[in-house]
This record gives sequence, C-alpha cells and structure tokens, in this order.
Amino acid sequence: VLAAGGVAALAEVAGDVQRAAGAAERLLELLDARPTITAPSAPQTLPGRIEGAIGIHGVRFAYPNRPDTPALDGIDLQIRPGERVALVGPSGAGKSTLLHLLLRFYDPQSGYLTLDGIDLRGLDPHTLRTQLGLVSQEPVLFSGSAADNIRYGNPEASLQQVREAARDANALSFIEALPHGFETPLGPGGLQLSGGQRQRLAIARALLRDPRVLLLDEATSALDAESERVVQEALDRLMQGRTSLVIAHRLATVVAADRLLVFDQGRLIASGSHASLLESSALYRQLASLQFSATAPIRETK
Ligand code: ADP
Ligand code: MG
Repeated sequence: VLAAGGVAALAEVAGDVQRAAGAAERLLELLDARPTITAPSAPQTLPGRIEGAIGIHGVRFAYPNRPDTPALDGIDLQIRPGERVALVGPSGAGKSTLLHLLLRFYDPQSGYLTLDGIDLRGLDPHTLRTQLGLVSQEPVLFSGSAADNIRYGNPEASLQQVREAARDANALSFIEALPHGFETPLGPGGLQLSGGQRQRLAIARALLRDPRVLLLDEATSALDAESERVVQEALDRLMQGRTSLVIAHRLATVVAADRLLVFDQGRLIASGSHASLLESSALYRQLASLQFSATAPIRETK
C-alpha cells in the first residue's frame, strides 16, 4: 500500500496524528487518505466479543483511479468463526484488495461485506477496525520506545502485558538485548530493526490488541531461516482461536489452512485443501510449484 519510507517520513512530522491515532492501522488509514467511505450517521454497535464470521456477497470493486478495471469481481464467500483461510494467487489477483475492503479502506461498487452478519457499512469504521488485526508485509514502526510501539495495540496495557505479548511474539529476547530494553527508542530517529524483528513487534502489537479476526499479508522477502522459524511460530500463536485470512507465501501456511482460496484476475476461481486443489486446479498446481516449495525462499510471482 505504502512505501515504508513514506510512512516513516510522515510519522516523523506527524507526532500529533500519531498520538491521536493510537494504532498503526489507524495511521495507515489516515495516510492512505481514502475519502471514499462514509461513516454511518447511526452506527450499529457490535457486542463486546464478536464471533468473527465474515460474509462477502456479490462483491465487485474497482479502485477509483481505474474504474473500468475491477480489482475484484463477483466474489461470494462465507468464512466461519475461527476458520483459517489462505488466499493464494498471482500478483495482482486481488488478494490484498479483499483485506482492504474488510478494513473498509474502500466500499465495493456492488455487493456488500458482513461481520457477524452485520453490513460493514452500518458499523462505525473505528469499531470495526478494533475487531480486525492487520499484520502487513511492512509493519510500521513509530518513533517511540519498543514498549510504546507494542502498546499501540492497546494503549491501556501494563508493562507486564506488553512483556507477555512480546514473549508470545518471540520478541522478548531481542528487545531485552536492545541498549535500553523496552525503553529503547525505535523507528524514525531511533534504532532500526531487521525485517524479522519488525514483524515480531507487529505480532506483539496484534496479540495485545486481541482481535477476533486476523488479516495477515505474509512477508515475501526471504527472512533468514532462524527468523522465518521464530516468526512462523509467533504467527501460529497469534492465529490460534481467531478467524484468520492469510495471504499465503509459505508452504507451512498453505498446509495449515482449513481452506485455500485461489484468486486470479479479481475472481475467486477455486477453493479447497492443498491436496484437492493440486488435483483440480491447473493454476494452483502452477503456483504450488513456483511458490509453495518447502525449500526455496518463497517470493511473489511477477
Ligand atoms: P494481490 O494482492 O493479489 O497481488 P492487489 O489486490 O494488490 O493484488 O491488486 C489487484 C489489482 O488492483 C491489481 O490490478 C492492482 O494493480 C490494482 N491495485 C491495487 N492497489 C491499487 C491502488 N491503490 N490503486 C489502483 N489500483 C490498485
Ligand atoms: Mg498483495
């Protein structure tokens, strides 16, 4: 969506926005400056603890600057509470766009999406986003301490809770090894972290937030083997017991999913298990041989 550099530069000059935002996703939303959605005048409230069922009903969506080329077209889909779904398909197929519609960065031109049966357009966008956890490929770090960065997931959290989230995200040992531990300044003007470390910080942030629905855009960049293992472990912990939609680049994710959805040119063209899709879908077979190999670092096809 955004180049990390752009986010970093903006975060630097936008201390106020940042403090007001309270969450990375919120800042992303502001940065992305999408005037395309309208908040309802009388939003429906969600119960404190939602189930996490997702419905996608006849959705067609084209980005505003390309109105004649739908990024998604004719999508119908039901995802059960707690289900783990992997989205696969070539680059440009519409996978990230589906996550953007769920986060309500945009509304579809036709059809609608639901959370626990409630039309997203009837929900307050902020309330909606508190139920959805996003871990993107390029997690955003704000200027602030390591603890502050994790606390964006839940500003009320105690240091003890921050530490527990860091531990469950496999981030505790590297944070404790920083020059000032949890108080080490990070992000713009502070210490720069590696990709694997940034991801684990983002996972800690999401764990602290404890959303019912998790949206995950797996990193395509090859992490070294050790980072890959600790990140994967942390992600598995994060997905436990939550509805999870994962844009999959790793064989482990594909195999662990309850269901795979194959996207191509904005359409959902096949679904099923890894084994059944190897049988039934030529595109999936091709993707599997290119992307989901157990040994090669997995990259998005261009
Ligand atoms: P995937 O995540 O499967 O690689 P995307 O959802 O990012 O695919 O993209 C789907 C289509 O929408 C592509 O044709 C892409 O070029 C286009 N697209 C993605 N983001 C934007 C945007 N912000 N503005 C215009 N077109 C976009
Ligand atoms: Mg994408």
